[in-house]
Amino acid sequence: MGKLYVVATPIGNLKDITIRALEVLREVNFIACEDTRRTLVLLNHYEIKDKKLISYYEPKESVQVPKIIKLLEREDVALVSDAGTPSISDPGYRLIKACVEKSIQVEVIPGPSAVLTAIVGSGLATDRFTFLGFLPRKGLESFFESLKACMDTTFVAFESPNRLVKSLQTMEKVYGGEVPVCVARELTKIHEEYVRGKLSEVLKNFVDRGETKGELVILWRLA
Ligand code: SAM
Repeated sequence: MGKLYVVATPIGNLKDITIRALEVLREVNFIACEDTRRTLVLLNHYEIKDKKLISYYEPKESVQVPKIIKLLEREDVALVSDAGTPSISDPGYRLIKACVEKSIQVEVIPGPSAVLTAIVGSGLATDRFTFLGFLPRKGLESFFESLKACMDTTFVAFESPNRLVKSLQTMEKVYGGEVPVCVARELTKIHEEYVRGKLSEVLKNFVDRGETKGELVILWRLA
């Protein structure tokens, strides 16, 4: 019986990978990944060669799970996502659940995640936080409203750069402009930045830029 290794990979800076992650990726024959080209960039960088890559991305998850489970019945498989920790707003959960149900061992090789990197760098309280995944595209106003019941926590959400201003505007409409906010952008990359301040200030900062690029995380507190 094989083992499923869930391996965290860099969120930008290719040096952010653990020794264990590299050992596992060198040892296994099969690596399940989202975009094979993205994973090949990492493997080539570390001269990890001759791996069989299995496509495992969201629309294909339910088809691929039984195939990967069958493979795991005879050998180890590593699971990676394009960046960061698999299964955190990335494919992984369904395969891990299937392994648990089949009593296949799951070993997580911890490493980078945009969630923890952003909250630590935000300067907002870290003792309790609520990860919201990607902000919903529809019904954002009522979504923000529903969070008013959750106090004493730092909210952490993924958002795309082209929806950032709109989402911050909706947030201001619901919470007012005084709420402490941080936008953590391009973490671990050359243009890494944390834009911190009152919601009204952070919103103005991004409105003034006209266009925002790159990957980002929004964090805020209500009290
Ligand atoms: N599983 C990943 C993790 O653990 O970090 C998250 C994958 S999710 C599909 C991708 C989202 O994470 C991006 O849209 C962005 O919100 C956030 N993200 C990923 N890398 C980032 C980075 N370097 N800087 C800021 N946000 C990042």
